[in-house]
Amino acid sequence: RLWNFSAGPAAMPQAVLERAQRELLDWQGCGASVMELSHRGKLFMGLAQQAEADLRELLAIPADYAVLFLQGGATQHFGQIPMNLAGEGDSADYIVTGHWGEKAVSEAAPYVKVNVAGSSKEQHYLQLPPRDSWQLDPRAAYVHYTPNETIHGVEFHAIPEVGEVPLVADMSSNILSEPVDVSRFGLIYAGAQKNIGPSGLVVMIIRRDLLQRATRPMSRIFHYADHAANDSMLNTPNTWGWYLAGLTFQWLKEQGGLTAMCERNRAKAELLYGSIDGSGGFYRNPIDLAARSRMNVPFTLHDSALDAAFLKESEAAGLLALKGHKALGGMRASLYNAVPLEAVQALVDFMGDFAKRHG
Ligand code: PLP
Repeated sequence: RLWNFSAGPAAMPQAVLERAQRELLDWQGCGASVMELSHRGKLFMGLAQQAEADLRELLAIPADYAVLFLQGGATQHFGQIPMNLAGEGDSADYIVTGHWGEKAVSEAAPYVKVNVAGSSKEQHYLQLPPRDSWQLDPRAAYVHYTPNETIHGVEFHAIPEVGEVPLVADMSSNILSEPVDVSRFGLIYAGAQKNIGPSGLVVMIIRRDLLQRATRPMSRIFHYADHAANDSMLNTPNTWGWYLAGLTFQWLKEQGGLTAMCERNRAKAELLYGSIDGSGGFYRNPIDLAARSRMNVPFTLHDSALDAAFLKESEAAGLLALKGHKALGGMRASLYNAVPLEAVQALVDFMGDFAKRHG
């Protein structure tokens, strides 16, 4: 296997994949694959409960928060969150710091009056909008933000203070990368395919009182309270995703939990940004130093005519998926939990060598 810097679906921990491979045909001696078990059976229910317990332990999730294992991708929840948290005529504040925040706004708009209370669009999302520029409404149903913008490579390094209004965070691309104080949030949600497991699963952590907010008529399948009341088994869940998420949570515990992951992620990011900043302008990351993402590092070459050679040669060197998002061009290296320091060292070595040969 090669070093994989994909933004998502992203690299998974090698140990998790190996374990899944070993267990694929016969899970825990039951004579069937975990994929072939009823979600309502004792075996799968045990797995599901263990996964939730491990996630609760990793993030120290307080008891007054429900943990849901849902489907639909983060995108579906861009719409479903206002359906559940906002009543008819309510407004919600959105802080927009990149592509995914914009998407969250456009998908929410049919269900809530969106107030873009802060945005760095005019600064081309190269920085975060200063907190004192935000126009928050104390009557808003909630405040939504994207702690890490996967495409623009911009990350909040502190949880913003928003008063009494519930804070909603799309943590798709930075969940489990560091410890976080869950009690500061009303709702945290994340598509699984970066730091949790395969795509098709969404993990949601929601303060229980918010489950009672929904007032508009909607199918039960859209209603978070119904999912919570049914232990995320209102209908057939993504059992395979849930199983792999559970293995990832166990792996994270074995690694020393989120404090250890935070240390590693910081070291990886420092190594790569150090190499970009120290390249004498050959490589460049334009993001404000205070807002650089530890998870997604977009960078450009001083001459875009070299992009094709960089991609071809990096792939030949065993470094996968470095092509930048089409909206920005250039390169992007995603350094999620499953990417070891060794992979970043290999990337930095390659970049140094490439710069020497083409500089
Ligand atoms: N939010 C963020 C921060 C993302 O990086 C992504 C994409 O991967 C999404 C939302 C969309 O997720 P999905 O494709 O699971 O709907």
